[in-house]
Amino acid sequence: MSKNFDVIVIGGGPGGYIAAIRAAQLGFATACIDEWKNDKGGPAPGGTCTNVGCIPSKALLQSSEHYEHAAKHFAEHGIGLKSLSIDVAKMVARKDQVVKQNNDGILYLFKKNKVSFFHGRGSFVKAVDGGWEIAVGEDVLTAKQVVVATGSSARALPGLPFDEDKILSNDGALRIGAVPKKLGVIGAGVIGLEMGSVWRRLGAEVQVLEALPAFLGAADEQIAKEAQKAFAKQGLKVELGVKIGEIKTGAKGVSVAYADAKGAEKTLDVDKLIVSIGRVPNTTGLNAEAVGLKLDERGAIVVDDECRTNLPGVWAVGDVVRGPMLAHKAEEEGVAVAERIAGQHGHVDFGLIPWVLYTSPEIAWVGKTEQQLKAEGRAYKAGTFPFLANGRARALGDTTGMVKFLADATTDEILGVHIVGPMASELIAEACVAMAFKASSEDIARICHAHPSLAESVKEAALAVDKRTLNF
Ligand SMILES: Cc1cc2nc3c(=O)[nH]c(=O)nc-3n(C[C@H](O)[C@H](O)[C@H](O)COP(=O)(O)OP(=O)(O)OC[C@H]3O[C@@H](n4cnc5c(N)ncnc54)[C@H](O)[C@@H]3O)c2cc1C
Repeated sequence: MSKNFDVIVIGGGPGGYIAAIRAAQLGFATACIDEWKNDKGGPAPGGTCTNVGCIPSKALLQSSEHYEHAAKHFAEHGIGLKSLSIDVAKMVARKDQVVKQNNDGILYLFKKNKVSFFHGRGSFVKAVDGGWEIAVGEDVLTAKQVVVATGSSARALPGLPFDEDKILSNDGALRIGAVPKKLGVIGAGVIGLEMGSVWRRLGAEVQVLEALPAFLGAADEQIAKEAQKAFAKQGLKVELGVKIGEIKTGAKGVSVAYADAKGAEKTLDVDKLIVSIGRVPNTTGLNAEAVGLKLDERGAIVVDDECRTNLPGVWAVGDVVRGPMLAHKAEEEGVAVAERIAGQHGHVDFGLIPWVLYTSPEIAWVGKTEQQLKAEGRAYKAGTFPFLANGRARALGDTTGMVKFLADATTDEILGVHIVGPMASELIAEACVAMAFKASSEDIARICHAHPSLAESVKEAALAVDKRTLNF
C-alpha cells in the first residue's frame, strides 16, 4: 500500500507522538510510525518513556515509597501494622497496568487527532518529488516533511551485554521478580539512583559505583551534598571516583572488580547488577546512510538549533539529537518542529528545562547552579530556606532538604532555583514559570502562597535572597 501524508513522524515516544498530534492539530495529514511491541506483540506507543522509562519507574517508586512509609513511618502517626509484606509480582503487574493505560491513551489520542498510526520499523527509502519515501513493513509512505524521533537505548559496558537477568538495563531493572538481597548499580545518574532507591526501599542492600569524583555533578553542589547526606542516612551506599575492572557473572550472581578513589582494589559481589552509564541514540534501521542523513561521532542525528537535519524537510527531535535526554525536552522539540513546519515560530528555551530526580528526597532544579555562575563570573545573591522550618513539611513528616534561589546581584532576576526535599518535582514548576516571565526573586517573595504548603518554602527562599525570611 502506498500513502501520501504531509508529515511522517518516525518514533512514537514523547518526542514523536507529541509532534504527530501537534502536526495534526495544525491541519497536516500526519502519520506516526512506531515499532515498540507489548508482550503480546501488539503496538505499545509511548517509547522508552512510557514502556521502560519515566512512567514505569515512577509507578515502582510510588509502590516502594508506600512500602517504606508503612515500614518506617506509619508508627509515628499511631498507625500499627500486625505484619507487612511486599508482593513484588503484584507491584510489577500494577506497573505494567499503568504502562498499558498510557499506551492505550496514546492510541486514543491518535484517533482523536486523526493521526494515522503504523506499527513497525520506519526506514528511509529515497528522496521523491521534493519529499521522502518511508517504508514500514509492506507499506510505503510519502511526505514532504519527516520528523525523526527514534529515541535512545541503554548503553552497555564494553564486553558485558545486558542479559536482563543478572546484568540489567533499565528494562530489566523494572522487571526484577523478587527483591534481591544485594544489588549493585554502576552509574549514579538519575536512572541509577531512582532504580537503586526502588529496590533499597524494598529491602535490598544497594551499592552504587560511580566513576566521576563528584556526586550529581550537574546539580548545584550544595543541593547535591544535602541529597548525598540523606541517601547515606537511608543506607543507599554511593562510592565515587571508582574505576571498574573485570565483571564476572556466575550461578550465584555478579562479581565486580574495581579500584576505589584511592586506588585500592576491591570486589563487589551482588545478586544483580544494574548498568546505567548513559544512553545511545537509536538510528539503526533508519537507513540513514542511504539517504545521507548526517550523524555525529556519538551516533546522534546532527541538527541545528531548530532541529533541522542536513536533509531538506527532515527534522529530528528528542533523545536521538543533542541536548538533555528528558521526555519534556523531547516533547517541547516535537511541538516546536510541528509549528515550524506550519510556518510558525516554535521555540524551545534550553536554559529553562527542569531536571528532576524522583528519589526521596526528590531533587529538582532549573536554570544555573552556583558553580556555573561562579565560572561565568556573574555576580549573584543566594537565598535558602530549609523544609525543617515549613509547617506543611512537619505535618507531612518529611523535613529533609531545602529550596535555594540564585538571583542576579544587580537586577534580582532569578537565575536558578534548586530544590531537594518533598515534592521538589512539583514545586519546581513555579520556578519555571517565574523564570520564563523573567521574574525577580522579589516578585516571588511578594506573591501570596497558600498556608500551610510546601510552596511557602519557595516564597521563603525568595525572601532569603534579600535576607528577610519570616519563618527562619
Ligand atoms: C528508567 C528511565 C527513567 C526515566 N525517567 C525520566 C523522567 O522521570 N523524566 C524524564 O523527563 N525523562 C526520563 N527518562 C528519559 C526519557 O524516557 C527519554 O528522554 C524520552 O523517552 C525520550 O523521548 P523520545 O521520543 O526522544 O524517544 P523514546 O521515548 O526512546 O521513543 C522512541 C521510539 O521510537 C521507536 N523507534 C526507534 N527506531 C524506530 C524506527 N526506525 N521505526 C519505528 N520506530 C522506531 C522506539 O521503539 C521508541 O518507541 C527516563 C529514562 C529511563 C530509561
